[in-house]
Amino acid sequence: MYKYTDMKQDDIYQEEIIEHYKHPRNRGVLSRYTHVAEGNNATCGDTIKLFLNVSDGGMVENVSFDGDGCAIATAAASLLTEYIRGKNIHEVRSISPGDMYTLLGVAINPARSNCALLAYRALMNAIIETKTSTKK
Ligand code: ZN
Repeated sequence: MYKYTDMKQDDIYQEEIIEHYKHPRNRGVLSRYTHVAEGNNATCGDTIKLFLNVSDGGMVENVSFDGDGCAIATAAASLLTEYIRGKNIHEVRSISPGDMYTLLGVAINPARSNCALLAYRALMNAIIETKTSTKK
């Protein structure tokens, strides 16, 4: 009798995810930022902290992330920070979890959805926090 337990779907990542995991974009702590939020994924042990510097005009001028995550969580943070740089904060607020999956470009096992959406959720927390303190 053959055993197929070594062949897990989870282990099949698209090259781009591996590439972003090995060489994450926008990694580090910003010296100046207007928004910050941290996300934790207990099931996997991922921690992602997101920093944004949003201009008075509402443009994401700079963005970075820091922390420790698995391949999917790190690649998602890397892809997301690249995606939102230069965007208007209103555009950023309209990003959906589905958009995050599209950015990743690979089918994510439902068991890993918390990894895939960790940076996205941190982002949404970061920009919701300051909704009450919008400058005029
Ligand atoms: Zn993870």
